Order: sequence, then structure tokens, then C-alpha cells
Amino acid sequence: MIEVADGVLVATSRVMSTTSTVLHGGGEALLIDPAWLPDELDALADALDARGLRVIGGFATHAHHDHLLWHPRFGTAPRWASPATATLARDERAALVAALGADFPTALVDLMGRVEGTDAALPRASTPAGFAPELVVHDGHAPGHTALWLPEQRVLIAGDMLSDVELPLPFDPDDLPAYLAALDLLEPYVECAAIVIPGHGLPGSNAVSRLDADRRYLADVVAGRTPSDPRLANPGMPAEYERLRAMVARA
Ligand SMILES: [Zn+2]
Repeated sequence: MIEVADGVLVATSRVMSTTSTVLHGGGEALLIDPAWLPDELDALADALDARGLRVIGGFATHAHHDHLLWHPRFGTAPRWASPATATLARDERAALVAALGADFPTALVDLMGRVEGTDAALPRASTPAGFAPELVVHDGHAPGHTALWLPEQRVLIAGDMLSDVELPLPFDPDDLPAYLAALDLLEPYVECAAIVIPGHGLPGSNAVSRLDADRRYLADVVAGRTPSDPRLANPGMPAEYERLRAMVARA
């Protein structure tokens, strides 16, 4: 794990550079999107033990299988998400379980997606000393997608937005307007952020240029121009570009 700000630790999975974020203070920890592979979740539990941290809560940024994970060793603290995320995690459970693959351990499958919806802020009992996360809920990438803004630390935990490796991924059938609105909603936080932590990719101090790149890419696709975004060279991204082009053509 690397420490990107006081009390903010980030671990990175070997699958799709998926990040797990740990906020800790006073010996207590909040886990955001712990991921992904069983041995990595186990190693995260080891790392928490080594630091003497007790898990007092979890948070899932959105209802995709790689952001809803948990491990028995993290314990039974409440796990939170936006109301829309919690509803999707329940209603789409069969598809989310299938996305984990047949080989995923049963104990982890059982724990996947067991989140409760919370409207405004995280309950105090789930928030480590020194943190007052603000939930920035929107419908970019997934309905009820949530970024966490840490005003004291000036850290923006962006979920699957503002990635340096993934292109903007609005989801079918057509949430491109919602995605653009989400970027607008995130803009004031981006402008204040010392560090942005994407759900996939590297934490960086360049939140503003990431937001600009996302807007430029989407504007290019909408206008029918070929984007020059370097992220197009990353695995899976050419297919996402084609999917977005088809989405725009249908609109
Ligand atoms: Zn996602």
C-alpha cells in the first residue's frame, strides 16, 4: 500500500489496476472498494493487521462486481453505498455474481454487494478520526455512482471516473448526458483536489487535466472526430470506443 495523503492508503490490484482505498485514524479504518482477487483481499487484511487497524466500515462507489467486494477477515462492520447503488447491488445480484466467475470462492461471493444505502453522509461510527467524507452522488458510469471528497486532505476518491488508464465509460443504454453532468458536478472538487484516486489506474495530482481529457474525448466522439487520447491504446479501450460511437449514433 502507498500512502497518498495523511491516513489515506491505496493498494493496487494486478487486475485492471483496480484500487482499494483505506482511510485510517485512531486505529480504525474505512475500506473503499476493497479489490479484487481473493489473495489480494487476504493480503489487504494482513496489511490492516500489521498496522493494528480495526475495520469500522466499508463503502462501495458503485454497483459493479469489482467494487462490491469484501473479505471475512474485514469483519462485520456496516458497508455503505448510495441508495441507487444498494438497490442495484440487490436487484442485479445474479448478474454481479456471474461476473465474478465460477471459480470465485463461495465465502467471498456471499459477501459481495452486501451494502446498505445511505443518503447524505456516512454515519459517524463508520468514519475514522480525522475524516469527514462528503458523498458526491451522480449517475456517470453507473446509476448512483459516488465519489468521496475528503475536504481536510483535499483527496478525491473518484470511483470509475477520472482514470488515467480507462477512457470515460458511460453505460448502456444511454447515459452520456448523465456522464457529462457528472463531470460538471465533479469539477469544483477536481479544482480543489491535491490528489485524485481513480478506481482503475494511478493516484495523481493532475485531476484537472484528467477532467479535461475526459471532456475532450467525449466531445470528439459526439462530434464524429477521431480522438487522439493515448488511453485508446490500453487493453479493452478500442472496444469501449466503438461501443460509445454506436451509443452516440443511436442517440
Ligand atoms: Zn465500474
